[in-house]
Amino acid sequence: MAENLPEISSEPIVAGVTAHSNFLVSTGATGTKFLSELRDNKKIMGIKCPKCSKVYVPPRTHCPTCFARMSEWVELSGKGSLSSYTVVRYKEPYMPKEPPYAYGVIQMDGADTGMAHILGEVDLDKIKVGMRLEPVFKEQREGSILDIDYFKPSS
Ligand SMILES: [Zn+2]
Repeated sequence: MAENLPEISSEPIVAGVTAHSNFLVSTGATGTKFLSELRDNKKIMGIKCPKCSKVYVPPRTHCPTCFARMSEWVELSGKGSLSSYTVVRYKEPYMPKEPPYAYGVIQMDGADTGMAHILGEVDLDKIKVGMRLEPVFKEQREGSILDIDYFKPSS
């Protein structure tokens, strides 16, 4: 009942809270296949829609265009073209690299979608949309998108 609520004599106070938490989530069958190929074979796999033939990377279970379930895996070369990018100049605890570094979307050869990742071995002032890129894998891989250390310029 409204008469039982305490009266508020001022605007509500909103307090800032910084929360850091670590948790584990299952990547599912599709994510597990994609990440284990990165870890075990240094391969970037896409998945092809049986209806519209679009190839998605990173892969997903269902095609967002026609909702078909996808299960046909396509091995990609790993090379692609930069379709957009930004340069990160500030530091946050969750960031995988020390700034400044570039982060971009790579349109993978043989795929219809772009994949976001870090750019490396590149002059930040000479990055161009359309430049060719190839992946550099970490020596120690653990089944993470960061098993690809970064994408570097390629011919
Ligand atoms: Zn489709």
